[in-house]
Amino acid sequence: MVGLVAVTSAPMTDLAALLTVQQLDNSVGALRHRRSTLPERKALDEATAQVSTLSTELADRDAPRRDLEREQRRLEGEAELLRAKAASENQRLYSGSVTAVRELQAIQEEISSLQRRSGQLDEQTIELMMRIEPLVDSVADLRARLDAAEAVADRATVALAEAEVTVNGELAATVAQRAAAAADVPVEAMQRYEAARPQLAPSTVVRLVGTRCEGCPLQMPSVEADRIRHLEAGLADCDECGRLVLH
Ligand SMILES: [Zn+2]
Repeated sequence: MVGLVAVTSAPMTDLAALLTVQQLDNSVGALRHRRSTLPERKALDEATAQVSTLSTELADRDAPRRDLEREQRRLEGEAELLRAKAASENQRLYSGSVTAVRELQAIQEEISSLQRRSGQLDEQTIELMMRIEPLVDSVADLRARLDAAEAVADRATVALAEAEVTVNGELAATVAQRAAAAADVPVEAMQRYEAARPQLAPSTVVRLVGTRCEGCPLQMPSVEADRIRHLEAGLADCDECGRLVLH
């Protein structure tokens, strides 16, 4: 970029405010770039990816435990039903509504059978619980790493939010300064600047330094420099680079 502030001898005119507008536009562009490339965002992306990886790994490694626990719940439910049935048969046994000895014996046998089966289910449940316990231990380390990764991601989320607040504040202040500076620039000059900026940013407006357009590497022909110098103070188009030359 050429040195836009190298020359200070020219009086500050309304047109020169265009240089301020350009400088502020460049600042706005830099702030937007900074906001989209915040290191805090990269840190958060990495932390989130780590949480995702560990979650998947944990779910995979923890699958056998979940299967066994499902089986445990099934057995417990079944045993509960058998016990309820036994309790209901027991109530019938002592209700007095059944008096035939054979039928009373049959009920007692049914109760014994129900109790035996529920007892077997209880034993199976205990065996399952003993198989589940080491599986819980085996994923404990992975779970701890996931917890740590989630804590990192939480902190990264806060850090990003804080960084965004800071850069958004600077951006808002710079946009306001730019609007104030633009209000000093003649409408026609501003329109020429706005039209040329997409191609020439960040040095759309430059000064004439001696016989040189600040945007061009070479001296402009002296005839051209003379022509521009003798124009009424204002904005000229540089034939070489297309920039707006403040003279
Ligand atoms: Zn030029």
